[in-house]
Amino acid sequence: MGIPGSGLAKGLAVTLRTMTRKSHTAQYPDAQPELPPRTRGVIGLFEENCTVCMLCARECPDWCIYIDSHKETVPPVVPGGRERSRNVLDRFAIDFALCMYCGICIEVCPFDALFWSPEFEYAEEDIRDLTHERDKLREWMWTVPAPPALDPRAEEPKELAAARKAADKLAAAEAAQAAEAAQAEAERGPGGTENGNENGTENGNGAAS
Ligand code: SF4
Ligand code: SF4
Repeated sequence: MGIPGSGLAKGLAVTLRTMTRKSHTAQYPDAQPELPPRTRGVIGLFEENCTVCMLCARECPDWCIYIDSHKETVPPVVPGGRERSRNVLDRFAIDFALCMYCGICIEVCPFDALFWSPEFEYAEEDIRDLTHERDKLREWMWTVPAPPALDPRAEEPKELAAARKAADKLAAAEAAQAAEAAQAEAERGPGGTENGNENGTENGNGAAS
């Protein structure tokens, strides 16, 4: 049997010890948590990239992605060409009451249309409001953090190389066009007449300079 009152003394010692320690309790919502940028908070949809391939909806283990679409015929690009048909998105919704935040939909999307946002404050009083339609999913896109910078020694992304090649080609075409225009202007001469006039003066408008 211990000394009477030792239990109380031990308890007080623990109290005193913990009183002086820094608290780890997060005072949410007064203090916002510092979350890693890739936190699985909510899913944003960048619908311009969505081709309605349905892969995300098919792979979702909870079947909580709802997509509706219709087909539209696109006229041929060149006369005599073939008409094409494309899918047009009518509805894209995610039921976050069912979603288990596995991230499979984001992983499988081949067109970079779905992204994680670290936002997590979207609790609702009515469970039906946890089904976020495309407008709301688009709003989440603006809270998606920028991708991390590439390693300085990493290979240049293929998209950047292709974009640079296209921009170089365009710049070269524009430069050639400008040079052609300048040459035509020079040949026309300061008076605006075609070169090689009757009296044989170079760029002449008839008056010797
Ligand atoms: S995170 Fe997982 S459960 Fe949630 S919508 Fe995507 S695939 Fe479905
Ligand atoms: S996988 Fe991507 S492109 Fe295909 S329907 Fe889903 S979001 Fe759209």
